[in-house]
Amino acid sequence: MKKWLLFLIFLIPLFCGCNKKTELTIEVVIEQNKTDLISIHYPKTGFEKLDREIKNYITNTRLNLKQYIKENVYIEDLPELNIDYEYKVIGNRYSNIVLTTFFTSPLLAHPINDIKTFVFDQKENKFLQLSDIATIHIGKIKMELLKQHQDCILIDDLEKVFQKPNNLKFTFTDQSITFYFNPYEIASGNCGIIKYEFPNKEFYIPIEKTTLQKASLYKPNKKELSSKKPTIALTFDDGPSKYTKEIVKLLNEYDANATFFILGNKVENYHETLTFVLESGNELGNHSYNHKKLTRLSSKELHNQIEMTNEVVKKTLGYDIRLFRPTYGATSNSLKSNINMEIVLWNVDTEDWKLRNSKKIYEKALHDIKDGKIILMHDIYKSTLESLKLLLPELKKQGYQIVTVSELKEIQAKRNEKN
Ligand code: ZN
Repeated sequence: MKKWLLFLIFLIPLFCGCNKKTELTIEVVIEQNKTDLISIHYPKTGFEKLDREIKNYITNTRLNLKQYIKENVYIEDLPELNIDYEYKVIGNRYSNIVLTTFFTSPLLAHPINDIKTFVFDQKENKFLQLSDIATIHIGKIKMELLKQHQDCILIDDLEKVFQKPNNLKFTFTDQSITFYFNPYEIASGNCGIIKYEFPNKEFYIPIEKTTLQKASLYKPNKKELSSKKPTIALTFDDGPSKYTKEIVKLLNEYDANATFFILGNKVENYHETLTFVLESGNELGNHSYNHKKLTRLSSKELHNQIEMTNEVVKKTLGYDIRLFRPTYGATSNSLKSNINMEIVLWNVDTEDWKLRNSKKIYEKALHDIKDGKIILMHDIYKSTLESLKLLLPELKKQGYQIVTVSELKEIQAKRNEKN
């Protein structure tokens, strides 16, 4: 009898689906190849149907790039593919996703931009179309678009697009519906991507009130530093990611700290991880918003990449970022003069992004490490996490103090004073 009961208990989750726990992770591909630069971020939601569609979009976009590279030869400036994401769950139920693709190459007069949206009902396990969520006043929306973009709207194209409202790209909140139009879809190219938020309060679907995330109140912990001990600064780029928390736990075990140069686009989705990063005495630095190569951008775009990151960190974590590390390590005089933050590079490259083997990363790091060095790693790879399990105990054994960049600078300043 007991055995049967046990068996039944095991079966329950299989039938009711109530064992289903979904956790959001952000998948990351950052590559500096011989033929191209790639930076891709997209959410993995745990909803198979939705994840499959997102993955298809990413795969197809990458295939197009491959084809393009095959057909065009580059010598100096490489083509660059950047796919960024926005992810919000409305009413604890509806996933709203925007993927923005940016592709640039020296052979193109203008970068190519493309927007793709997904609206998914987690409870019903289905994609939602505009007609599923609300009645929209098409006439009003067209008029508003015309008013806001007089200089570039092409009336015939606008009419054509609105003939099939269910093909419109959109996302929604409990207050509004936002529409997205690709360049040349309803307007001439000079207007780029057009985004229009239409206030809307009546929906066909039930929307629970979303609970707002509170800003964290972390307590910075000031630890005792010795200016006599050999000291190195550990730095991690491109995160946060699903490995960041594990890395911080490991650092804590060895009384070590690091500077994390993060991307602004992931801050809200990794709010809890980043709180833990800060509470453990680590430092955050700015590594742009979505990892575009910055030396190519106009000063306005560059400003956005930096300010958007500083702002989202301030808003979500209550933390002021002071340090900056450029993407792909690429700097220029104009970049330097446009940034009023301290730029931090590195002098030991573990090449973890290339090696992807914990033993090799460990050996490379250990070979190059000396007192006063700044080490470059990336907290987006499992092999990097694994290499730290070898590296941290070894460095401790050798008497190293492992600190943040700011702490290293503090120690160096103290040493200079003494001399
Ligand atoms: Zn990077």
